[in-house]
Amino acid sequence: MTARMGTARLGPAERSAALEQMAAQELDLVVIGGGIVGAGVALDAATRGLSVGLLEARDYASGTSSRSSKLIHGGLRYLEQLNFDLVREALQERALLLQRIAPHLVRPVPFLFPLTHLGWERPYVGAGLVMYDSLGFSFGFTRGVPGHRHLSRTRALRLAPALRRTSFSGAVQYWDAQVDDARYVMTVLRTAATYGAHVASRAQVVGFLREGERVTGVRVRDLETGAEHRVRARQVVNATGVWTDDIQELVGGRGQIHVRASKGVHLVVPRDRIHSLTGIILRTEKSVLFVIPWGRHWIIGTTDTRWNLDRAHPAASRSDIDYVLEHVNRVLSVPLTRDDVEGVYAGLRPLLAGESEETSKLSREHVVAHPVPGLVMVAGGKYTTYRVMARDAVDAVAHGLDQRVPPSCTDRIPLAGAEGYQALWNSRQRLAQSSGLHVARIEHLLQRYGSMIDEVLVLIEQDPSLARPLSGADDYLRAEIVYAATHEGARHLNDALARRTHISIETFHRGLAVAEEAAELMAGPLGWDGEQVKREVEYYTKRIEAERLSQEQDTDHEADAIRLGAPEIVPIATPDPV
Ligand SMILES: Cc1cc2nc3c(=O)[nH]c(=O)nc-3n(C[C@H](O)[C@H](O)[C@H](O)COP(=O)(O)OP(=O)(O)OC[C@H]3O[C@@H](n4cnc5c(N)ncnc54)[C@H](O)[C@@H]3O)c2cc1C
Repeated sequence: MTARMGTARLGPAERSAALEQMAAQELDLVVIGGGIVGAGVALDAATRGLSVGLLEARDYASGTSSRSSKLIHGGLRYLEQLNFDLVREALQERALLLQRIAPHLVRPVPFLFPLTHLGWERPYVGAGLVMYDSLGFSFGFTRGVPGHRHLSRTRALRLAPALRRTSFSGAVQYWDAQVDDARYVMTVLRTAATYGAHVASRAQVVGFLREGERVTGVRVRDLETGAEHRVRARQVVNATGVWTDDIQELVGGRGQIHVRASKGVHLVVPRDRIHSLTGIILRTEKSVLFVIPWGRHWIIGTTDTRWNLDRAHPAASRSDIDYVLEHVNRVLSVPLTRDDVEGVYAGLRPLLAGESEETSKLSREHVVAHPVPGLVMVAGGKYTTYRVMARDAVDAVAHGLDQRVPPSCTDRIPLAGAEGYQALWNSRQRLAQSSGLHVARIEHLLQRYGSMIDEVLVLIEQDPSLARPLSGADDYLRAEIVYAATHEGARHLNDALARRTHISIETFHRGLAVAEEAAELMAGPLGWDGEQVKREVEYYTKRIEAERLSQEQDTDHEADAIRLGAPEIVPIATPDPV
């Protein structure tokens, strides 16, 4: 087996080199924020031939971009709000991502829409889904997912025996798509780095460089070493999601556009707790609740409440969890209890501040603005349309650069691991034989790494003990933890357990049972001594304990106070505008 050449790694040496290179030259642009939007901007810019750096204060995707419903969708409820342009744009992106850009990471997923009103509801929902399906066709692409179909109650119950017979009268099934959100961000960043972008995590922007009014770069603190660098850039892009206003303040001035946060909580339960072959979508008073198949689990959510507390670690309270359980239990014949909940996560929607007080009605559309010369801000939107947001932001950058910049070409750039994926998928039996792994493992690896699977298999070839599953989280191989550190930018235990894998929400022990083994595996590539291994496990344990306790609290304030009690393994610096 030969290692696939060419895709950039995000290991520790590459991080140091990226920071050095960013400090050594004047870049065309530097991006603040390593969520999906910042990652998309870095890739868009690099593939237009611009020199670009990206700085992320924490781990890649550690903000909202690892805490979503993980759907690539048009959003049925935006259709109900008659926002056809938004839905069309998102569905065209869905088709592109599924079929060209990331077929290894984005997958179709079916949803059952149970009908509860006799008479008007079936034609109403049916008409909506005819439109939803037809808006999904885009130039040169099919929709990428099957069309919807109407079902009687009996047929719906055959697909989803978990539903309580008396809770609905019939159903419609339709298709959308899903993605591992954190993995997707990291893959966009690896692709951007392959095209020449310099990217670094745990690198916080603490101030700006100015020439008079004009922004000419940023000051960045390497949070791992404490060193500060000056990164000069002709344009700076603020892609910091719910931190947008902080960056705006750092540059001075309030700006005209504000971003506020709305919290959404999801629960994870084992697959066997809900007997169904399909996802389910339920109407709630304010919005919708999804029951989404997720490997050997279900993800159930979400809530939508205003949040003004800590933005790095939004806490889920007992009330949030009860809300989700209560709504899903309305349709289940065997209700879920808190004991069924393996994992809980909360995320913050970056909503553009509007007139309405209802967060669920605030705009999901994005804005790009030029608040100060040299600075572009991009905010709002949703995960599904990140590529469009990135394109618009780089168009604004190009305008500020005053030079001819080619148009965006990311609609033709497959992400790392996409090229060759289909052929490898078709050859998975052969791959299983040659590697000695079960074909189910090969499928799991292909759906996470695509054609970069070779790199993981090489690690196993060099050290066959890495072919074993982690004891306590046997969906994942030991090699995947090593690979997270060597190739995927994981710098701490939490990065590997919460984002490169999802062990922290997919197990009842929330990762505690594998923490030591995983930390030992990361120690080699990251140069940790015994003390550091101990420290990593200790910090991870404190985080999980604080999260569990916060989920017992009734209110947001109580939950937040307890969650904040867990220390950060790499503390964030106090910004320093001068
Ligand atoms: C509950 C929930 C469910 C959702 N479900 C879906 C869905 O199913 N489908 C969909 O399309 N969308 C969904 N969304 C929306 C989507 O997740 C977000 O729109 C998207 O992830 C926002 O990405 P972002 O890059 O703007 O922000 P983020 O991912 O938050 O990235 C911003 C980054 O900036 C970094 N940063 C902040 N300050 C600094 C600094 N000073 N220096 C360096 N870095 C800094 C932060 O650490 C952070 O990583 C959902 C959102 C939520 C909350």
